[in-house]
Amino acid sequence: STIYYGLLALQHRGQESCGIAVSDTNGPKGKVLSSKDMGLVNEAFTPEQLEKLKGDIGVGHVRYSTAGGSTRENAQPLVLNYIKGTLALAHNGNLINAPELREELAYGGAIFQTTIDSEVIAYHIARERVRSKTAEEAVARAMQKIKGAYSLVIMSPRKLMGARDPQGFRPLCIGKRGNAYVLASETCALDTIGAEFVRDVLPGEIVTITQEGIKSDTRLCQKQQTAHCVFEYIYFARPDSVIDGVSVYHSRLMAGRYLAMDSPVDADIVVGVPESGNAAALGYSLQSGIPYGTAFVKNGYVGRTFIKPKQSSRESSVRVKLNVLREAVEGKRVIMIDDSIVRGTTSDRIVHMLREAGAKEVHMRVSSPPFLWPCYFGTDVPAREQLIAYNRTVEEIRQVIGADSLGYLDCSRLRQMAGDLPICTGCFTGNYPLDPPMEDIRGEFEQ
Ligand code: AMP
Repeated sequence: STIYYGLLALQHRGQESCGIAVSDTNGPKGKVLSSKDMGLVNEAFTPEQLEKLKGDIGVGHVRYSTAGGSTRENAQPLVLNYIKGTLALAHNGNLINAPELREELAYGGAIFQTTIDSEVIAYHIARERVRSKTAEEAVARAMQKIKGAYSLVIMSPRKLMGARDPQGFRPLCIGKRGNAYVLASETCALDTIGAEFVRDVLPGEIVTITQEGIKSDTRLCQKQQTAHCVFEYIYFARPDSVIDGVSVYHSRLMAGRYLAMDSPVDADIVVGVPESGNAAALGYSLQSGIPYGTAFVKNGYVGRTFIKPKQSSRESSVRVKLNVLREAVEGKRVIMIDDSIVRGTTSDRIVHMLREAGAKEVHMRVSSPPFLWPCYFGTDVPAREQLIAYNRTVEEIRQVIGADSLGYLDCSRLRQMAGDLPICTGCFTGNYPLDPPMEDIRGEFEQ
């Protein structure tokens, strides 16, 4: 149930499917219990199922698909039987050489059960395991083959391992509760289960947790620059998480301050689009002196609208998720802050909702630059033609969404907002820290 509560705290990272695998390190080697299903964590596991998932090590996962369709087979953790027992693997990120690796394995006779990159990683680990003395050595060897973004939590029958790609695209941190170690994508999950934060897994590091404690292998940590995903700070992560030493909340607050400095406008109230726009709105308010307010009431029982597969369901779900607080905005000049505009569906809707509720002016500010390029490293960005900023000027976008003015965060502010960490800004600038694949490698796109 510790994993269950950890997954609940990470639900914002993926709402398509989820799963838990556990093992008893004193029990028989091949015996791993697991359960996976589509949907949210609290829907997928019944108390009876959780009761059965007993063990002293385990892996959990919540999925949001980038490569590979949204199906039950693609749910994680992957559980595979191999020569040394059972391997369970949870992966966050996206490989850029998965198609080549998959082909190579397929020619070697491999049979795949899923369409996700993670299975390619699991196969490599399993294959290397035959030639390696230890499971962590097999992970290190597999890491030399795979390229791209991966934060991994891997359970072999007797140990728990965590690994992060050398660029450190996606987060992964270590926590401790009593004498038990925990790995999680975000520190908010550690808080939820009452574990204390130990440190982040280093880019390129493999950590191994056994009954004897924790070991670290930093041979693959590179001297070269890391490239943490800036979109984690902008949108993905929960504001109460700290990633690579930088508070997500603080970075959003700073983005709002920069917007107030770079795109000032006179107004009566600053509001955020919940959740990820709120901290930026507060930053804007603090910097500009314009009062902060609440204009939207969010229905907490529906997921993130972006994750809905079809455009039609996305449009209607904006209204299901958000409603305007009329008293707060009627007759007022409103600055509304959201974290990003991707297709423009959300912004278009909410600008109109504010007007319907009597707002005199609606000024939109966005706490990220215009979304222009695909992400090959684990964020789902639709095809370029669907991006509202593609082939449009800011003025043209303003007209489409119907705002009185529109301002984006400048690209030059990104590194500053992320506490000066070396970051990947590919989706905004087209500059990628690793060469993108020649052909577009992502799986099914949304319609
Ligand atoms: P759109 O309506 O397509 O412009 O999407 C913008 C909204 O989706 C914003 O309010 C963001 O909070 C959210 N969002 C942006 N990028 C992503 C992403 N890659 N995955 C999930 N949600 C996102």
